[in-house]
Amino acid sequence: MLNKSTTVYRANSITEIQTLMRNIAGISVAAGCTEIARRQTGRSLSLPTNVLSIAGIPDLCTVTKTERYIDFGACVTLSALLKLGKKNLPEILFDAVSGIANPAVRSLATLGGNIAAKGHRLSTFAPLLALDARLEVRTPLESYWIPMTRFFSNIGKEQPKFPECIYKIRIPADHWDISLYHRTGRPSFITDSTASFAFLVKTQKTILTDIRIAWAGKFFFRKREFENLIIGRTLPLSEKDMANLMDKSELFFDQLLFPESYNRACFLNLLESSLRMLT
Ligand SMILES: Cc1cc2nc3c(=O)[nH]c(=O)nc-3n(C[C@H](O)[C@H](O)[C@H](O)COP(=O)(O)OP(=O)(O)OC[C@H]3O[C@@H](n4cnc5c(N)ncnc54)[C@H](O)[C@@H]3O)c2cc1C
Repeated sequence: MLNKSTTVYRANSITEIQTLMRNIAGISVAAGCTEIARRQTGRSLSLPTNVLSIAGIPDLCTVTKTERYIDFGACVTLSALLKLGKKNLPEILFDAVSGIANPAVRSLATLGGNIAAKGHRLSTFAPLLALDARLEVRTPLESYWIPMTRFFSNIGKEQPKFPECIYKIRIPADHWDISLYHRTGRPSFITDSTASFAFLVKTQKTILTDIRIAWAGKFFFRKREFENLIIGRTLPLSEKDMANLMDKSELFFDQLLFPESYNRACFLNLLESSLRMLT
């Protein structure tokens, strides 16, 4: 039951999305509605006055793979992603999606909704950040591609002046030699301590050629400067390398960026145990 009058506009195509965003002031995007439902606290549903339902639009439910990229339509469901199998998805994304909620929720929940959820960053956010995802975004008047790191922010941007709809999520089709995903907090549920850690490594013979380390929970970060400290090193890392990197991590992930907390301790432990895999 709704607690006030809400009009739900159903878009049947991507052109209709932009028309509705242009014509209805303050319209709010909804996809699978599982996160919107999860955040309800009262006995009756509290929704914005105008809701734009985009779930099931065929152009937004496709996954296309080329030699260079994988493009995910924002409305592809989490269960559809799992059906593609571990071979056809970056392992880190597959692992993240497998741990989300349960099959019933995953059959409605979308990838777009997972990254766009406000307030607390959800399970696929850190893996997509580590994979250098770019987003195709449409507003009532324009359409553009933007790196995920620039579209989202840890401050402000919760109430954009006009509606923004993510159409596609694009990641480079790279191969990673090490791919690790960990989440903190209660499995399959979102609580205050839920956060995700993503760790990716590429090697060529004994040289570490790329590394990505991302974190997302109450806030998110990736520090390219810290990653650059590790890129180019010869493997295996020595104990001296380890000590040096863990010392540096205290500087790069300082208390201003990441205040003392259970999650900070988890992050530093996960960082150390992941780097240890390179020793
Ligand atoms: C029981 C339960 C357990 C859960 N456990 C987990 C879990 O373990 N891990 C996890 O990550 N999540 C979990 N969730 C949350 C949720 O199911 C997922 O995050 C899901 O992927 C959200 O997708 P959705 O399509 O349902 O989003 P919606 O609920 O439709 O939308 C979520 C937000 O994203 C915005 N949005 C949606 N699509 C777009 C778009 N294309 N462009 C712009 N904005 C958009 C909406 O405006 C809204 O603010 C759980 C939910 C439930 C009910």
